[in-house]
Amino acid sequence: MMASMQSAPINLVEILIHAATYHGEAEIVSRLAEDGSIHRENYGQCLARTEKLAAALARLGVREGDRIATLAWNGYRHIESWFAISGKGAICHTLNPRLFAEQLIYIINHAEDRMILTDVTFVPLLEKLQEHLPTVEKYIVMTDRAHMPDTSLHGALCYEDLLAAEDRGYQWPSFPEETPSSLCYTSGTTGNPKGVLYTHRSNLLHAACGNSPDGFGQAAESAILIIVPMFHANAWGLTFAAPMVGAKMILPGAGMDGASIHELIRAEGATCSAAVPTIWNGLLDYLDKSGQDLATIKSLIVGGSAAPRYMIQLLDQKYGVEVNHAWGMTEMSPLGTVNRDLPFMKGLKDRDYEAWLDLKCKQGRPPFGVKMKIVDDDDNELPWDGTTFGRLLVKGPWIVESYYKQAEKAVDADGWFDTGDVATIDAHGFMQITDRAKDVIKSGGEWISSVDLENIVMGHDAVALAAVIGMSHPKWEERPLLVVQLKQGAEASREELLGYLEGKVAKWWIPDDVQFVEDIPLTATGKISKLGLRETFKDYKFP
Ligand code: ADP
Repeated sequence: MMASMQSAPINLVEILIHAATYHGEAEIVSRLAEDGSIHRENYGQCLARTEKLAAALARLGVREGDRIATLAWNGYRHIESWFAISGKGAICHTLNPRLFAEQLIYIINHAEDRMILTDVTFVPLLEKLQEHLPTVEKYIVMTDRAHMPDTSLHGALCYEDLLAAEDRGYQWPSFPEETPSSLCYTSGTTGNPKGVLYTHRSNLLHAACGNSPDGFGQAAESAILIIVPMFHANAWGLTFAAPMVGAKMILPGAGMDGASIHELIRAEGATCSAAVPTIWNGLLDYLDKSGQDLATIKSLIVGGSAAPRYMIQLLDQKYGVEVNHAWGMTEMSPLGTVNRDLPFMKGLKDRDYEAWLDLKCKQGRPPFGVKMKIVDDDDNELPWDGTTFGRLLVKGPWIVESYYKQAEKAVDADGWFDTGDVATIDAHGFMQITDRAKDVIKSGGEWISSVDLENIVMGHDAVALAAVIGMSHPKWEERPLLVVQLKQGAEASREELLGYLEGKVAKWWIPDDVQFVEDIPLTATGKISKLGLRETFKDYKFP
């Protein structure tokens, strides 16, 4: 039977066109990476400039399917680049500047990027890499003539010069919505990074479903400070979700320390913000020292690694801020779950705060679109009882099916993708991450969750960061080692920290030793690098 509804495929640039048409005055406020100054444009101006950039890219010979990379912090020119590149049918490849040089070289060559649009601040980095990047024909420096550096980058072009040479009115092409729009590589904690190639359809569905009221819940009245970088799993889809509803976007550039973030929140009236827990640690520390509050913020989206219990409690009780704990991964565009209250939780907070907090520590429930299940080693489905844990598998229209340029599927015969996480699911469908499969500590045949131990220790006043890794043990196969970075000027002994865990976890979970370090290494996405720690402690022996 013939369908009777319109079926025009949707190009992602339609999101920006919608924002410009119906929320034309809503602002995109950016702190510029090059000099820290504040720049303002609205969605109407953003669309006009995006059309000009698309025209300029066409003039430079960019074709459908070409990979065009960006190496930039969150800022308005980066937003324009995203929409211009994918809107004209090319693929926007976001590069993470925190990757090691060899990893950047690997992914740029693997993707065969033809051009790189870069912030001024990354020009010196690219100058060093360029001789290893044979596919890159041009570097577009995202700045104006006045700030254009004297550079040895071959084919270097000035972003604002390109725009100035074009007129408005670029005709956006139409193509099937399964056309690839963007490319992001996983950080490659094991082996080489793997590319995830998103489509217009997958990004659009992800942004729309993920932004439901029980998901990220942004609206025209919101002002969202998007700290999670656009190169980290699409800024969690927020740079699509915000223009889709006309929310004001606040983009922090390179300034992610507590003071800079707080200043932006105050000055711009941010109602919501999103970042990994290490960023919130920095902000909480700043608030504590300066005696400031969180002003206009109503909710914070915390994800990328587990939001510690003390953090959720402190934000709630001291600052009156709702934490929306979220979980996901690059392979999932990235949103998998968000923790928002269900009706049965109404009143629970007043009746039994600890029980409510137990629930809020969970990573949450999927928005429409994501299916999940937990399975044992033989792939048998496990019960949703909140205690049985197993490998977490997911399925849905914005979840990877195969990695970029890899012929074999990344999913099983029924289309389930193994997340590499170990989790429980409770009767209400709240999922809780127990650990990453490779970080679980196997002690005497039983599993110990490094995440649980870390979350508790992070609640100790003297602790800035805590990580627990499994070290080989002659009798128990593995035992936990607690690695701690103390707050500046703070003191705590080994005995005190181990004693702090007593009564909070099973006795046999208590780590066998504590090691103090100056700095716990972080990954390119701001998470604790267990790989780095394992390397540091590779010769360690339990006393
Ligand atoms: P990378 O490996 O580059 O950090 P991702 O950002 O895609 O890549 O990381 C995804 C992983 O991060 C998940 O598989 C999970 O282990 C972890 N993660 C994400 N959000 C949470 C969360 N809220 N709680 C615990 N772990 C999380």
